[in-house]
Amino acid sequence: MKGILFIISGPSGAGKTTIVKGVLENLEDVAFSVSYTTRPKREGEEEGKDYFFVDEEAFKDLIRKNELLEWQEVHDHFYGTSKRYVKSQMDKGANVLLDIDVKGAKSIKRQLKDCVLIFVAPPSFKELKERLIKRHTENKKNFERRLEDARYELSQISKFDYLIVNHDVQVSIKQLESIIIAEQLKVSRRSKFVGKYKFYKEV
Ligand code: 5GP
Repeated sequence: MKGILFIISGPSGAGKTTIVKGVLENLEDVAFSVSYTTRPKREGEEEGKDYFFVDEEAFKDLIRKNELLEWQEVHDHFYGTSKRYVKSQMDKGANVLLDIDVKGAKSIKRQLKDCVLIFVAPPSFKELKERLIKRHTENKKNFERRLEDARYELSQISKFDYLIVNHDVQVSIKQLESIIIAEQLKVSRRSKFVGKYKFYKEV
C-alpha cells in the first residue's frame, strides 16, 4: 500500500514544529520530509534535520533539475520540498509529513488529490503575536512580515481538511496522531482488504 502524504500548514508561531516533533516521537510509520531553504540557519538548528540550508544558486539549480515537488518564496526566503524523498518514502509505504506554507500545501493538493491538509491555528491573533515575540528569532522587519503572512494564511483555513487549534501542545499532538491513524483506516484507502471479501456470501 502506498503511504499517505500529510501536510501541516499554519502561521509561523502557531506551534507546528513542536507538534510535528511530538508526533514523530510517538508514531513509527511516519517520515518527516526535510525541506530545502535559503533562509539563514537559526541558533540550535541542524543541517539535514531542520532543513537543508542552501544558497540561492543551489536552490535555483534544484528548480532547474525538477527536484522539487513544490517551492515557494516565504517571508522573503525560498523553501522547497524534495520530490525524490517524498516519492521514495511513499513508494515504500511510509506516511510522509510535510511542514510547509499554505501556498505550497495548495500546490501539492492540485498535484496529489489524495494528500491530507491539516491547518494548525493559534488560539488567537494576539497569542500568535506574543508567541512570535517570545521566540526572539525575528528582527522587527521579519516579525511584521510574518504577521502579515499569518493574516493571509488564516484566511485560507476553509481549503484544508482538518483544523487543529493549538491551545495545548500535548492535546494538539494527540489530535494530529488521531488524524494520521484515522486516515489510514478509511475504507477508501483499503481497497485491497475490502476486495478480499468481494465474493463472500452469507449462508
Ligand atoms: P521557518 O522559517 O519559520 O522555519 O518557516 C517559515 C515557513 O516556511 C513555515 O510556514 C514553514 O511551514 C514553511 N516551509 C518550510 N519548508 C517549506 C517548503 O518546503 N515549502 C514551502 N512551501 N514552505 C515551507
